[in-house]
Amino acid sequence: MTAASAPANSGRETPASIYLVEDEPEIARIVVRVLGDFGFTAEWFRTGAELLRRLRTRPPGLCIVDLGLPDIDGMELVREIRRRHAGACGVLILTGRGYTADRVMGLELGADDYIVKPFEPRELIARIRSILRRCEPHAGSPPPTAARVAEFSGWRFDTGSNALYAPDAEEFSLSTAEAQLLRLFLERPNRILTREQLLGERGVSPYDRSIDVRISRLRRKLESDPHNPKIIKTVYGAGYLFSSTVSWG
Ligand code: CA
Repeated sequence: MTAASAPANSGRETPASIYLVEDEPEIARIVVRVLGDFGFTAEWFRTGAELLRRLRTRPPGLCIVDLGLPDIDGMELVREIRRRHAGACGVLILTGRGYTADRVMGLELGADDYIVKPFEPRELIARIRSILRRCEPHAGSPPPTAARVAEFSGWRFDTGSNALYAPDAEEFSLSTAEAQLLRLFLERPNRILTREQLLGERGVSPYDRSIDVRISRLRRKLESDPHNPKIIKTVYGAGYLFSSTVSWG
């Protein structure tokens, strides 16, 4: 591994460790080298089984998952990582397939983002940093306040447990990132919020799709027709608007 040329996470004690599962040695070598150059500790696994074994002993900060693996379907692997480490570890899909359906499916199953082969090293690093920022439990999040329950359009959201209850009482468990986003909307309903406001930071990278990913996941839960959203509306060129009255209890 090459010496670190840039700190991966300034202010952190140890750089985030990243697990890569990829059956093509050429691609794996490139990814591991790029990660090393940017100060990350990377471990490479050739099969899904090897990765799952390692996850049992030590969870990483992030997993990079190639969708086309010899022993297990990449989607199945993403679902399994999420089942074992809900919200605790980021998942970036590496896909050469180029099918939009695959990417969307991967995000539905709990991946945080995807990158298509071949990719630019700086794009890979930008996406990884973006995911790790989201996963950091304390980074950029507001100080914890007392748990409260918000009601909107027949839904209920408990900020203490991140549980979301549908009008028919069905319960959804949101990831930390999804819950943070929903809470931001609930605290400022019926106002246009920019992507920067929703991410809580300035200078959002054009590569940063994390807001769109989370919005899309929230819509799948909240909207009866996610393609024609009534609650989380897109305001073209401006941002998003949470269109509902909200009452806090
Ligand atoms: Ca492959």
